[in-house]
Amino acid sequence: MDLSPILSPLNDAQRAAVTAPVGPVLVLAGAGSGKTRVLTHRVAWLIQAEGASPHSILAVTFTNKAAGEMRARIEGLLGVPGGSLWIGTFHGIAHRLLRLHWREAGLPQGFQILDAEDQLRMMKKILKAQQLDESRWIPREVVWFVNHQKDEGLRPKALKDGNDPTRRQLIKLYQDYEEACARAGVVDFAELLLRAFELLRDNAEVLRHYRSRFRHVLVDEFQDTNAIQYAWMKLIAGSDGAPFIVGDDDQSIYRWRGARVENLQQFRRDWPHAQLHKLEQNYRSTGNILKAANALIEHNSGRLGKNLWTSGGHGEPIRLYAAFNERDEAEFVTHRIRDWVQRGGARREIAILYRSNAQSRVFEEAFLSARIPYKVYGGLRFFERAEIKDALAYLRLLSNRDDDASFERVVNLPTRGIGAKTIDELRQSARTTGGSLWQAARLALEQGALGARAGTALGGFLQLIEQLADGTAGLPLHEQVDHVLAGSGLVEHHRKDKAERGEARVENLEELVSAARGFEPEGDLPPLDAFLAHAALEAGEGPAEEWEDCVQMMTLHTAKGLEFPLVFLCGMEDGLFPHQRSLNDLDGLEEERRLCYVGMTRAMSQLYVTFAEQRRLHGTDSYGQPSRFIGELPEDLVEEVRPRIQVGRAWARPGGHAPAGAGAQGRAPAYTHSQAGRRTIAAESVAPGMRLGARVRHGKFGEGTVLNVEGQGPQARVQVNFERQGTKWLMLAYANLEAM
Ligand code: ATP
Ligand code: MG
Repeated sequence: MDLSPILSPLNDAQRAAVTAPVGPVLVLAGAGSGKTRVLTHRVAWLIQAEGASPHSILAVTFTNKAAGEMRARIEGLLGVPGGSLWIGTFHGIAHRLLRLHWREAGLPQGFQILDAEDQLRMMKKILKAQQLDESRWIPREVVWFVNHQKDEGLRPKALKDGNDPTRRQLIKLYQDYEEACARAGVVDFAELLLRAFELLRDNAEVLRHYRSRFRHVLVDEFQDTNAIQYAWMKLIAGSDGAPFIVGDDDQSIYRWRGARVENLQQFRRDWPHAQLHKLEQNYRSTGNILKAANALIEHNSGRLGKNLWTSGGHGEPIRLYAAFNERDEAEFVTHRIRDWVQRGGARREIAILYRSNAQSRVFEEAFLSARIPYKVYGGLRFFERAEIKDALAYLRLLSNRDDDASFERVVNLPTRGIGAKTIDELRQSARTTGGSLWQAARLALEQGALGARAGTALGGFLQLIEQLADGTAGLPLHEQVDHVLAGSGLVEHHRKDKAERGEARVENLEELVSAARGFEPEGDLPPLDAFLAHAALEAGEGPAEEWEDCVQMMTLHTAKGLEFPLVFLCGMEDGLFPHQRSLNDLDGLEEERRLCYVGMTRAMSQLYVTFAEQRRLHGTDSYGQPSRFIGELPEDLVEEVRPRIQVGRAWARPGGHAPAGAGAQGRAPAYTHSQAGRRTIAAESVAPGMRLGARVRHGKFGEGTVLNVEGQGPQARVQVNFERQGTKWLMLAYANLEAM
C-alpha cells in the first residue's frame, strides 16, 4: 500500500507522532505547528497502515466547522468517503449517543435541544412561578450556576448547601429546572455532555460496547476540555485504551466556561505511559509574526514552555494603527482590504478579529457602504434569528408536542387570540398535573375549562399542529419545512410587515427551506429530528458554506484553530482587550494574553493591530489606553502606519515617547513604540486656522495645545493636549474649538 500521501507532507517530528505505536499519545505543541494536521493524518495512518476499521475511530474537535474540514481532509487522504467515521464536537457526539440510547439515558425518544436563549427563558419562568425577585435572583447567573454544576458533573443531589441560604435556593432552582426540562423532554448543552457521561457510567453494557468499538479516540484542542468532557473521554477510552490527544496550553481560552488546562497534566497522570511528542516548527506564520507572538506569551507564568520557530522568511513587520475613533479604525481597515483585493488577494483570506461581538457593527456598516462582502461568525447567527427560531419551534412541536418552550413561543404567533391569561392558566394546570403545556391544553379543552373564544383559538392551534404533522409525514425534509412555513401562517405574517425587516425575514425563512434541502443527515435519525438537532448545534457557529468570497469577521474565541493570510486584530485597548473584568485578576489577564496569542498566530503573512483613542461602544464613549499587550511586542517588529503630522518634541513627555493616542487623563502610555517616520507638513494647509502649537479651548475638556492636525475638510481632525484631561483626538467639524 502506498503510504506516501499520508507521510510525505509531514516533517520528522510530525511523522513520529503520526506513526507512533498504538497506545496513549500526547502531542503538545504551539500554534500552527501542525497539530491538527498530525491528528488528521493519524486517522488515515491508523486505517491504512494499522488496519484499523473506520468504525473504530472517534475524533473530537472543537467546532462543527473544524469537524467538517477534518472529515474532508481524511476523505482526501483515504480517497474514499469516511461516512462511518465518527467525527464531531463533544456536543455533537454526545447528542448522537443520546439519540441512539435515549432509553438508557432516561430521555424521551423525541427529546429536543434547548439553546442558551430558551434555557434563560425557562429559568425566568421558574423564578416567576416561585415568585422570586429577578433583581435578586438574576436569571443569567442562576443559569450560569446550573451550567457550571453540570460542567463539573454535579447533580443537585450531590451538592451541599453548607448552611448557606443563597446556595440552598440555587440548588433548589437547579432541581426545579431539571424537573421542568424532564417534563418538556428537552436537554440543554451542558446536559448533553453530562447525560452522555452518565449514560456510559451507569450502563455497563453500553460502555462495554463503545469501549470495544472505539479503539481509537482522538481529541484536538484538548487544552479546552472541561471536567465532564475529560471524564467522558476517560470512560470511553478506558485506562488501558489508546487516546491520541493534541493540545497547546498557551491556547487555553475557555477557562470562563469551565475548561481546565490542567487536563493536559491530568492526562499524563491517568496514562502514565503516554508518549509525549512535541512539534516546534511553525508552518503558518512569517518569522516576525511568530517572534512577536512568542514574545507576548513569554509574559505568562506557569507555561509548559515551547520553542516555536519557522524556516520561512521574516516577512513584513506587524503594523500598528492608532485610530482616532472606532469609525476611523473601520475606515482604515476598509482601505487595507481594498488594497489587498486590488493586488489580487481574495477577501476570504482576510479576517477581522475582535474581543467582543458588539464591535462588529461598525465594521459591518463600513463594509456595507464600501460594498465589501463580509460574513460575521457568531453574534446573531442564522439559526438564532427570531423568525428562524419561530419556524423551528413549529417543527419541534411536530416532533415533540411536550416541548414547552416551543409551545409558548408559537402558540400565539401569528396572533390567534390566545392571551397571556390563557397561557398562565395552562402553566398553572401543567404545574399541578406535572404534565406539559400541550397536555394541559388538551385537558382544558376536554373539560371545557376555557372561555368560548380562548377555547376555540386554542383548539384551532392544537388542530393546526396535528394537521401539519399528518400533512407532512413522509414528505422530503425541505417540503416538510416549506409546508409548515406556509401552513403555520409565519410567512404570511412577515409578508404583511411592509418594512424592509419583514422582507428580510421572509428571505430568511426561504433560506431555511434551502438549508433543509441541502441538509444531509448523519446516522439514522428521522430527517426532521436530525435537522432540528443540527440547527441547535450549528446555531453557535453560523452557516458553514463558503460560497461567496467575503471578509471573515469573528471574535477571537471563534478564530481558534483557523488561519488567514491577512489578519486585523482590532480594538486593542485596555479595558476592551484585555477585558475590563480581567484587569485586576492575574489568571484572567493571562487568559486574555493567551487569547491575544491565539489571535496573532492566526495570521499567515500580514498582521495589523489597531486601537482607537476614543470609542463608542454600547452607547457610551470611552477614552482607552492602548492595550498593554501592544507594549509587550518587541519594538523592532512593529511599525506604526499612521500617516500623522508631527509637531516636534515640544509635546513629548519626560521619560517617554510622545503618546500616540496614549489615552486621556494624562496616564502613562501603555506602549512606547517609536514615533519615528512621521511626515511633518504645514498643518494650516489641511485645516486652515488650526496651527500646530496653537492654544485652544473646548467646552468640556478645557484649554489645551494643538499637537497634530490631519485630514481635510469635514474629515479634518486635531490632536489636542488638554491641560487637565490629557491628549485627545477631536473631529474639527464637531469639536467647536475656540482659538485663544
Ligand atoms: P493551531 O494551534 O492554530 O490549531 P495547528 O498546530 O493545529 O495550529 P495546523 O493547522 O495543523 O496547525 O497547521 C498549520 C498550517 O501549517 C496549516 O496550513 C498546515 O497545512 C501547515 N502545515 C503543517 N505541517 C506542515 C508541513 N509539514 N509542511 C507544510 N505545511 C504544513
Ligand atoms: Mg489546530
